Amino acid sequence: ISTPEAITITERVNAFLATPKKLLIDGRWEEAVSGKTFPTYDPATEQILTTVSEGDKADIEKAAIAARRAFEHGAWPRLTPSERGRLLWKIADLIEQHAEELALLESLDNGKAVTNVRLIDIPVSVDIFRYMAGWTTKIEGTTIPLSPADAPSSHYFAYTLREPVGVVGQIIPWNYPLMMAAMRVAPALAAGCTVILKPAEQTPLTALRFGEILQEAGLPAGVVNIVPGYGETAGAALAEHPDVDKISFTGSTEVGRLILKASAINIKRISLELGGKSPNIIFKDARLEDAIRGAADAIFANHGQVCCAGSRLYIEQDIFDEVIAGVSAISKEIKLGPGIDPSATMGPLISDEQLHRVCGYLESGFQQGARAVTGGQRVNRAGYYVEPTILVDTTADMKVVQEEIFGPVVVAQPFKDASEIAPIANNTHYGLAAGIWTQDISKAHHLANRLRAGTVWINSYSIFDSALPFGGYKQSGYGREMAHSALDTYTEVKAVCIKL
Ligand code: NAD
Repeated sequence: ISTPEAITITERVNAFLATPKKLLIDGRWEEAVSGKTFPTYDPATEQILTTVSEGDKADIEKAAIAARRAFEHGAWPRLTPSERGRLLWKIADLIEQHAEELALLESLDNGKAVTNVRLIDIPVSVDIFRYMAGWTTKIEGTTIPLSPADAPSSHYFAYTLREPVGVVGQIIPWNYPLMMAAMRVAPALAAGCTVILKPAEQTPLTALRFGEILQEAGLPAGVVNIVPGYGETAGAALAEHPDVDKISFTGSTEVGRLILKASAINIKRISLELGGKSPNIIFKDARLEDAIRGAADAIFANHGQVCCAGSRLYIEQDIFDEVIAGVSAISKEIKLGPGIDPSATMGPLISDEQLHRVCGYLESGFQQGARAVTGGQRVNRAGYYVEPTILVDTTADMKVVQEEIFGPVVVAQPFKDASEIAPIANNTHYGLAAGIWTQDISKAHHLANRLRAGTVWINSYSIFDSALPFGGYKQSGYGREMAHSALDTYTEVKAVCIKL
């Protein structure tokens, strides 16, 4: 990167990294009460990028006080819906304005290819703020005609109000750090809530830069507080806090269960976006070139570290070998390298822990009889790289088929006839997404109906849009993020009844 523009961006990122990062609480950047810090790493080099103040219970307490005050008093509750909308639009503009800097920072902290951050993470983050900016003026109640049994001759006027749910805790993962922050914060602000955001400990940096952008946009103090820290401390304190009204959690199903338990303390509202093991089903009447490309992208995009990754590939028997050969050929074109290398198409996994998790799954697959057609091991170089992998000879009972690997590993199985595929596809605890590839439209709709998944893509995969609700069936969670459905989870309905 040698253009003058790129050099200033690199300098800006370096300047950002040169100072230890702090917590954003009540509009001020503060050190953690404990004085502790934690390092954040570049997964491509395994070197420390910078240190970040380590928030825990005491900092969550301060953030909760700030968020409550901001929710009830001061400028935020006095803004009109239209003013709130303009603020959201301004945030979108600023993310767009700082796109290159955010992309570079994200790529360094997460390892993902900078070209993909520019193409996906940044535009999606911008769009969700613009989409939600439009909703602020359209969060409406209804009028309701009453027929009271005990007073039939009385007349009533009844209506509903949609009110913000209050102080919201948002706990997010590391796979799309900025995008996740944007997707969660935008609807909460649109609804008029205040927020305590806890980014993942692996990737706190773009969330902190996002905090600066929120300040630049003029968001009043305390409306969004950002407290990086570890899950068991900061995250758990947020989930348990008696004065937090709602938790929006995105992460593993295992931690989702802990969040649910903690929410019982004050009957918090909860939305959970959890793991997945999504089936991607290819019929022999599909446009094979598209289906093969779609199957490869569905698992190898973002190194397979995608909740809705198409990680179980079901292929109609007659075309099994052809599809496997095609996906395998695409996997061989993938260029592994640091995210900031513009020619790299796949970066390292996020952490040493994730590397060992993925390699552990590969090992278990091999022990249970699976075979790697391509890939299958760690790459012998610095950084947490794993080869894009296709496993065949897999059976439904294998761990690699049932559990979420969250890496670039797809398990492939042939199937014989269309009528048998729905129960096979539904045969995991998860239900986040599914893909269907066929040119037979009635077969596609029929199967889409039978799949127990929050999203079904037909002749496409991983298509996201601010206007499309996203969420899981079964142990992939509940509640829907994105779209106007997200606003339902950030509002309460109040019924008002007046005797005339
Ligand atoms: P994780 O559950 O370990 O961590 C997610 C977040 O929860 C992090 O911020 C972490 O610090 C926090 N956390 C951890 N323990 C906690 C605790 N005891 N109390 C409160 N917070 C706690 O998940 P991960 O490994 O970071 O992310 C990968 C998982 O996230 C995968 O299962 C993936 O499918 C899922 N995910 C789901 C979606 C979705 O939209 N459904 C999107 C992205 C990721």
